[in-house]
Amino acid sequence: MDFNLDYLVRDNIRNLAPYSTARHEFSGEASVMLDANENAIGSPVTLDINGQQELLNRYPDPVQTKLKQRISEIKGMPVEHIFTGNGSDEAIDVLIRIFCEPGFDNIITLPPTYGMYGVAAAINNIKVKEVPLNAGFQMDIQAIADAVDEYTKILFICSPNNPSGNSINRQDIEIILNNFDGIVVVDEAYINYARQKTWSLQLTDHPNLVVLQTLSKAWGLAALRLGLAFASKEIIHLMNNVKYPYNINIATQELALQGLQNVDQVNAWTRDCIEQRGWLEKELQQLPFTQKVYPSDANFLLVKMTGANAIFSYLQQKGIIVRNRSSVPGCADCLRITVGTVEENKALMKTLKDYQG
Ligand SMILES: *Cc1c(COP(=O)(O)O)cnc(C)c1O
Repeated sequence: MDFNLDYLVRDNIRNLAPYSTARHEFSGEASVMLDANENAIGSPVTLDINGQQELLNRYPDPVQTKLKQRISEIKGMPVEHIFTGNGSDEAIDVLIRIFCEPGFDNIITLPPTYGMYGVAAAINNIKVKEVPLNAGFQMDIQAIADAVDEYTKILFICSPNNPSGNSINRQDIEIILNNFDGIVVVDEAYINYARQKTWSLQLTDHPNLVVLQTLSKAWGLAALRLGLAFASKEIIHLMNNVKYPYNINIATQELALQGLQNVDQVNAWTRDCIEQRGWLEKELQQLPFTQKVYPSDANFLLVKMTGANAIFSYLQQKGIIVRNRSSVPGCADCLRITVGTVEENKALMKTLKDYQG
């Protein structure tokens, strides 16, 4: 293992003089702020925060200090190890732009998996080497080792994996972290639903590890667009240099901060969702056309069904939308079904039981 961050970073990023905002240069409390060319008089609409009307005419905190302090408390993670982005999607894009030289470098993805790694790479003109997960949706370590070349900068591991739902074996991720000289991104968008514990507690052992989490799933805040990345101080510093200066707007910062007070509520919802997942799993298994319900550590189930395309269309006609993954390699005849409310899950099962193939 020969990890060298300086060597891995693109030259232009290593040498970047990042944009310094007026708010970066002054962070104290001032009474007269004439530094950022804002409208000093007011904003035509305000944000209601607990009955208080907050003006929107001032630029937001570019480094999201208060928000990161709250995340730090919840995750037990020092602030310098936290990046906040406009969804995890921003973190994915920023990482590719830091480490991958367009037209030269490549990333490795492990399909079937989340589509954004490949899309972000394509937008940046970065080649994608796809190393399929095996039949149990686990990593083929040897195939990954064979695919790595001197231009391979990032390996994306999604655990729990979307769309299969399972967690990736810890020992396998450990082997990758110990043997791959590039950046290993572990995307934990669904970690709240998993039996596995987070990799974010392993950062000190692995300087090449980046862990992604999000407020879009268990936290119930998909509309706010807030993604998290945890990594070494050095990697977080690079991410902060490359992101847009004001990447998280004030509404997201304030509302996410409020949402993050409700840990107990979110944990209760997560337990309910896991219980419903168990119920759905059993019910789906009993359908005559179900071939397999894959074990899930997430808030969805991948289900292999005879005639999945027809079942997908039938459900759509009945006003029930699931994700058809049939055309995805490794997911032939599979539908991905998000765990809904008790009523939604009952409606789904009733509709499926009425299906006449
Ligand atoms: C839903 C999802 C995300 C979340 O992306 P955001 O941009 O944070 O909403 C990230 N990774 C995976 C694998 C997902 O399924």
